[in-house]
Amino acid sequence: MTLTTETYQFMEQLADSLKSNCDIQHEKNLVQQAKNILGATQLLTKDSSKIDKSNKFSDSYKTFVLYLPPEQSSGKINLCRFATSCVFSCLGIGSGRMNQGKNRVDNDNFDWQLTNVSRAMFKRLTLFLDNRPAFYAKLEQEIKTKLNTARKKGYRLAIRLNGTSDIRWEQTRKDIFYKFQDVIFFDYTKYPYELRKNTPDNYYLIYSYTANNNQSLDFAKEWLANGKNIAVVFDKLPSKFLGLPVIDADKHDMRFIDNEVNNINGSLIAGLKAKGLAINNDHGFIERVK
Ligand code: SF4
Repeated sequence: MTLTTETYQFMEQLADSLKSNCDIQHEKNLVQQAKNILGATQLLTKDSSKIDKSNKFSDSYKTFVLYLPPEQSSGKINLCRFATSCVFSCLGIGSGRMNQGKNRVDNDNFDWQLTNVSRAMFKRLTLFLDNRPAFYAKLEQEIKTKLNTARKKGYRLAIRLNGTSDIRWEQTRKDIFYKFQDVIFFDYTKYPYELRKNTPDNYYLIYSYTANNNQSLDFAKEWLANGKNIAVVFDKLPSKFLGLPVIDADKHDMRFIDNEVNNINGSLIAGLKAKGLAINNDHGFIERVK
């Protein structure tokens, strides 16, 4: 049975009406605690060229994304358990508005005060580590506000919780997916399929392949065998890879519409062109087309 937006809205209002004044006050206190750490920084942003492209590509969806410091770059926690040589050119430290520069990336010498964007990433992580209940209260408040706007304006809300991390949100905070069933969540992941096969229906995952890495090739085959798509970074896009059609995945970032937009049934390869530090990544991360 497919539920309508009106049904989701009714269920959300019902859940809200069951909250006691005490619950409501508690949530407000948590959001205030989050703001004390974040200041004007929001958890969800659309300020990235990838997201700009998505939001221009289709009027039917608007995407927001949560950016945290990738892998162990914060020096406080590893947010990407299966990261590979992708670390050396990760978007979160090596590309676009988040580029820390080759020297810092090569030497693990990150400066989180470098730019407004990196400062914001670090504030989000500080909140995530120091006050998890406040982090989730603020995240839910932001999703709720954006969802209300989406409904008023007539588009679907799409959210990437792992803009530059690889957290198993379906384990860490599964209830968010159920609370916001009218939102499409989507992410790239480097986890093996077995560890992320039980995701809620409104959480779309695509496997992010690392070239020249036997383990990643095995993982990719496992995701494909289960009917999923994989994303590959190329120096230039071939028409096929692993016997499957390659689509230009740089036109937008909404991986959950790739099959429909390209009229392809079954698995496909979302082909991305190397950018930023990835162009000259000599750690084998890029699939070089001969
Ligand atoms: S797993 Fe993804 S987010 Fe993490 S370091 Fe690699 S490319 Fe960046």
